[in-house]
Amino acid sequence: MQARALIVAIANAIAIRTAQAAHELIMWSTMEHHSVVIAVAIGFVSVLLSYYIIFSRWKRRSDGLRGMQSKSFEKSTAAEGGTDVIIVGAGVAGSALAYTLGKDGRRIHIIERDLSEPDRIVGELLQPGGYLKLIELGLQDCVEGIDAQRIMGYALFKEGKDTKVAYPLEDHHADVSGRSFHNGRFIQRMREKAASLPTVHLEQGTVLSLIEKDGVVKGVKYKSTSGEELETFAPLTVVCDGCFSNLRRSLCNPKVDVPSCFVGLVLEDCKLPHPNHGHVILADTSPILFYPISSTEVRCLVDVPGKKVPSVASGDMAKYLQTVVAPQLPRQIQGPFLVAVEKGNIRTMPNKIMPASPLPRPGALLLGDAFNMRHPLTGGGMTVALADIAVLERLLKPLHNLHDASSLCEYMEAFYTLRKPVASTINTLAGALYKVFCASPDQAMKEMRQACFDYLSLGGVFSSGPVALLSGLNPRPLSLVLHFFAVAVYGVGRLLYPFPSPKRFWLGARLISGASNIIFPIIKAEGIRQMFFPNTVPAYYRAPPVHSIKGESGS
Ligand SMILES: Cc1cc2nc3c(=O)[nH]c(=O)nc-3n(C[C@H](O)[C@H](O)[C@H](O)COP(=O)(O)OP(=O)(O)OC[C@H]3O[C@@H](n4cnc5c(N)ncnc54)[C@H](O)[C@@H]3O)c2cc1C
Repeated sequence: MQARALIVAIANAIAIRTAQAAHELIMWSTMEHHSVVIAVAIGFVSVLLSYYIIFSRWKRRSDGLRGMQSKSFEKSTAAEGGTDVIIVGAGVAGSALAYTLGKDGRRIHIIERDLSEPDRIVGELLQPGGYLKLIELGLQDCVEGIDAQRIMGYALFKEGKDTKVAYPLEDHHADVSGRSFHNGRFIQRMREKAASLPTVHLEQGTVLSLIEKDGVVKGVKYKSTSGEELETFAPLTVVCDGCFSNLRRSLCNPKVDVPSCFVGLVLEDCKLPHPNHGHVILADTSPILFYPISSTEVRCLVDVPGKKVPSVASGDMAKYLQTVVAPQLPRQIQGPFLVAVEKGNIRTMPNKIMPASPLPRPGALLLGDAFNMRHPLTGGGMTVALADIAVLERLLKPLHNLHDASSLCEYMEAFYTLRKPVASTINTLAGALYKVFCASPDQAMKEMRQACFDYLSLGGVFSSGPVALLSGLNPRPLSLVLHFFAVAVYGVGRLLYPFPSPKRFWLGARLISGASNIIFPIIKAEGIRQMFFPNTVPAYYRAPPVHSIKGESGS
């Protein structure tokens, strides 16, 4: 309504100004008698013209996404003859996948519960490794025109000290860096781009269940916007319904852990101490993040350990943020932070961790958060999803048809191993860093936390190595383990230098044992063999089914 009022006001202003100009012109030409009449006539015409121009532009923009849907219906009729892939959910993973497979000529039916612009506190910082994947998939323009901010690295703060850790981008094009933005704007751009392909049919609807026959997924049952229950079929269904997935149960063995929640706020008029950097405050009890999401807004995410957070409605949350969190922030941020708390738009989100544990099922695949989740501290979720899509595209590209569900399912097992270097590096680092960055009453873990901060402050390979792992620029699990234990050994060295004592030796031993207890369970959940020796997994070498390869099939 406000936008409409503004447009009317602008149109009126244009009309009045045009009438005034016309009047002045006519006065100047001495035709005083007719001037008022002519000026009013010109003014009237310009009112109509400006109303027409402004309203048609406004309507085109607001109808944009609804139009996407109806255009797609036309396309689907044009593309009669069936769907190759059904995609459930048009979030980050679903819309990127629809575009990727659609541009490869697959006929896609993508069903999304809500096509309006999402307003969420998730997926707002894309790591440079994720940006490289966007380029690989041809989606890099989706971070243009949304006031996205370039991110060049991180700044870490601990007890009044701070250090900067830059992404190692020297070997890349100047355009490559992290990007931060409003998640909803990014998703809308990807949805628009996918729906612009003649092969993609994007529809609003809620998927209710998978349709299975003799153990093979044949399609989905969904409710359309009119409330009608419909069925749609395809040889492959990819479920990308996000972290709260209802459909993943039959496709994986979900073991979801919720170590903490993020409390989200938007700070306005806030100048971060290190522009174009993500800020991580190693606070008590757990980390706090800040990063710009537009040229005027900064996202703050406060980690609160456990599944429950203080109540927002009762005011306990505001009190917690004012009394416990604010005093631990750099002075420069405290003011805008308190203003944001006062404004009260406080959102919360559970931070879920779920290792990938697929139950291969003919006719279906899982992708995105429905498949695999890690702690969002390091902002790795979108990078993993985009890297998975790049792997999937490479696997599917040589296949002419996807109809042999069981051979396809067997072949797709390669996906679970091929994705491991990127996914397991990012997942393991996210889980391990979160544990190291949380405050602990245990002296050995306090030493580990300090050692990590000091190690990253050393610069050179000590900072570029870990940040290259975190950002997806160097997805090597072995390098991750080496850096992790280098931090632990560095911590022990600091303890023993210059005067080792039995007590310090003991503390050092506990530090190493604590570090092992952090990282080894995460590695075990990721799968030691797939993570470190992927080429010993038979599925790694799976060749595409011969009768499905392009050029091999008679169809
Ligand atoms: C607090 C928090 C902060 C995060 N910050 C970052 C970050 O900075 N950087 C980063 O890379 N990652 C971040 N992540 C992770 C990131 O948000 C996810 O990895 C990413 O959004 C996963 O994409 P997705 O497509 O799987 O899920 P989503 O983007 O959530 O999309 C799922 C889609 O499926 C739709 N859907 C659900 N059910 C149905 C149904 N039954 N029928 C039809 N449609 C359905 C939903 O409407 C939605 O559009 C964060 C996560 C959290 C929790």
